[in-house]
Amino acid sequence: MKAEIITIGSEIMLGQTLDTNSAYLGRRLASIGLEPTYQTSVGDNKKILSGVIKGALERSDVVITTGGLGPTVDDVTKEVVANVLKRELILNKHILSQIKARFQKRRLRMPKRGRHQAFLPEGATVLDNREGTAPGFIVEHNKAVLISLPGPPRELKPMFEDKVFPYLKKKFGTRVTKTRLLNVVGLTESAVDEKLGDISKREGNLEVGLIAHPTGVQIRITAGGPVGNEESINELISQAENGFRERLGDYIFGVDEETLEKVVGVLLSLRRKSIAVAESCTGGLISHRLTNVQGSSNYFLDCVVAYTNQAKIDILKVRRETLNRFGAVSARVAQEMAEGIRKISGATLGLAVTGIAGPGGATQKKPVGLVYLALVSDDTNLTEEHHFSGSRETVKLKASQAALDLVRKYLLKE
Ligand code: AMP
Ligand code: MG
Repeated sequence: MKAEIITIGSEIMLGQTLDTNSAYLGRRLASIGLEPTYQTSVGDNKKILSGVIKGALERSDVVITTGGLGPTVDDVTKEVVANVLKRELILNKHILSQIKARFQKRRLRMPKRGRHQAFLPEGATVLDNREGTAPGFIVEHNKAVLISLPGPPRELKPMFEDKVFPYLKKKFGTRVTKTRLLNVVGLTESAVDEKLGDISKREGNLEVGLIAHPTGVQIRITAGGPVGNEESINELISQAENGFRERLGDYIFGVDEETLEKVVGVLLSLRRKSIAVAESCTGGLISHRLTNVQGSSNYFLDCVVAYTNQAKIDILKVRRETLNRFGAVSARVAQEMAEGIRKISGATLGLAVTGIAGPGGATQKKPVGLVYLALVSDDTNLTEEHHFSGSRETVKLKASQAALDLVRKYLLKE
């Protein structure tokens, strides 16, 4: 069964929006055995879009459009679809009341064209929009299916996962593909490859790949088979996962969407410990990441971004003598920062980072990317020295990852 994706919006044509919808949809369609054969992007132009949709319906079984469903004049998808399928646009009262309620809830007046979004091609199945006002829809036309989804990924994804994916799976699904990601920290891509050795070169139904990120590596395990074989596919993936875990141990911190900050949060909760952070070169990034986790107020107490020497002295009580003797970017200063924030906050753990994010600020002895971490508690006094490469933002990100991993490694041993 052939599937094709049409992304609509002049912003894509002009290079202002990167088309991520096609990649996402292609991946999801392929996972159930639908073959993605065409991806087309078009601007908000009725005539061109009309031609593209006509062609798509002739050659493909499933056609998915994204974008152009909003209330503004440049949103032309529904009108063009209705025209191509020779159907009327009909007012859907249920949707209209939903849209009105959404505006009321936000204490906003519904603009005149808001009503526009409640019109759908005759005979279409409505797809509710949890994240926005524009609904999507499915229309079956001869042997083909046309599905129109909103452009913004955060609206499109839940709509696709909740309604469209189950619908397509039931109607066309022949194969299942499952993927598990193992998230690795503290090793480079080649180090992971070396440790895995020949076990990563699995054959047959199983595919293994490495994805490198500035913050670590993901091992992708994918296996597929005909519908009905889900259990054996899961088994195959789990077997591979066990093999990788044997080789990599605690370098694997989580699976799939699990982030390092989430894992650190779980460990802090389990061990009943609290944390406070003193940051210099990361500018608050570590604290930002820790507090991105729901429920972090149970263990995250306090943070200070002490950027200048004076701030380190005034707020964290770092000694001037230590700064003069070792410099702001040193293990000793990191240690005193960690002790300072621990004292101020009363947290069980004090975490600190100081370093040179670059591109300026380097000296002969202290290059860009040099970062010191410290973690202190009643009975712990750990420091680490790192040498990171990359842009200013990359160094900050890598430093935050190493700092969180320092906490994780400490908590694993507790
Ligand atoms: P819409 O109002 O439905 O046309 O969607 C408009 C917004 O959705 C754009 O401003 C983008 O932010 C986003 N968007 C539209 N198409 C895509 C796409 N193919 N990939 C990623 N984002 C998109
Ligand atoms: Mg648009």
